[in-house]
Amino acid sequence: MEKIKRNILLNPGPATTTDSVKLAQIVPDICPREKEFASMMKGIREDLVRIVHGKQDDYTAVLFCGSGTINMDVCLNSLLPANKKILIVNNGAYSTRAAEICTYYGLPYIDLKFPVDQLPNLEKIEETLRSNHDIALVYTTHNETGTGLLNPIKEIGALAHKYNAVFVVDTTSTYAMRPINVYDDNIDFCMSSAQKGIMAMTGLSFVVGRRSVIEASKEYPKRSYYCNLFMQYDFFEKTGEMHFTPPVQTIYATRQALDEYFQEGEGSKWARHTRVFEEIHKGLNALGFKNYIKREWQAGLVVSAIYPDDENWDFEKVHDYCYNRGFTIYPGKISTTNTFRLCALGAIDEQDIRDFFVVFKEALLHNGITVPVKYNK
Ligand SMILES: *Cc1c(COP(=O)(O)O)cnc(C)c1O
Repeated sequence: MEKIKRNILLNPGPATTTDSVKLAQIVPDICPREKEFASMMKGIREDLVRIVHGKQDDYTAVLFCGSGTINMDVCLNSLLPANKKILIVNNGAYSTRAAEICTYYGLPYIDLKFPVDQLPNLEKIEETLRSNHDIALVYTTHNETGTGLLNPIKEIGALAHKYNAVFVVDTTSTYAMRPINVYDDNIDFCMSSAQKGIMAMTGLSFVVGRRSVIEASKEYPKRSYYCNLFMQYDFFEKTGEMHFTPPVQTIYATRQALDEYFQEGEGSKWARHTRVFEEIHKGLNALGFKNYIKREWQAGLVVSAIYPDDENWDFEKVHDYCYNRGFTIYPGKISTTNTFRLCALGAIDEQDIRDFFVVFKEALLHNGITVPVKYNK
């Protein structure tokens, strides 16, 4: 087979994958209702619980065919008992998306907003929980991928539990990268998508959560058919299969990606992402770029750099120059400040970042942008 061109994706997912994961999708045709396929999914579900150090009796992984947002939808619409409320701790675009999902379903929720470049105020969270006894579910985002800010989930989870609420965290952009322990981090439900931390393909997403809560949710109001957590869980438990057609080839890639995850190991993988992240900072600093989020608040996976004040700056042009040379950079997701993002996920290492900065600097000079870049204030 011809060699597959290796692109370095610095966007926040899908990530650069290994060739072995790409090629794992090329398998003989199979009907996913076969026992062989169910047994592969069983192993995947168990491994997904293992990654966040859950015990199989306490936690389970439920797979869905869809992009990462399906997990958010599933958790929000399925885990709210009747006559109860959701508290969203919101300091970014992804928690705002969660609030939107609640609006679409007509779920009662409190949107507790904090500035997108700040950590949430724990006292305000506690005050809200204290004065709203009907909050049954607390929701937040671990790494706000739009900015790269890391939220204090352990502390927010502790507050949720103190007020008897279930804690749901969107860990889509930290899972299988930044080490997570569901017990230490006070997580009842977390989630991710195969194309992010585990470095597989798009189309498969998963919720990892407490079995006892999922079982209790059988009695909660049903608000979606395709995206109901208990229904999918129950079908998996009874038959070992997804209720409806799974993304077959993506699941083969996921099997391979999980084998590679455990071969690399949690600690070494996080160390590699950290090396990449440090190298991104080094490169940006050398070119004079400013960070949007305070360095000590960054999750170690996404760097948001502020657009320089240069009349020749044109993100599209810089992007295209890099893209044509195998490097993908990504715009920011902040309404008030113009930023672009460089992300440390995927099967890449520090040398890839050094190679990127050679091209990136060329892209700046090629477009007449002053290096080091300038800011007016
Ligand atoms: C990527 C991501 C998602 C899912 O986005 P999709 O485009 O639906 O895959 C959800 N939450 C966070 C924090 C993410 O980074």
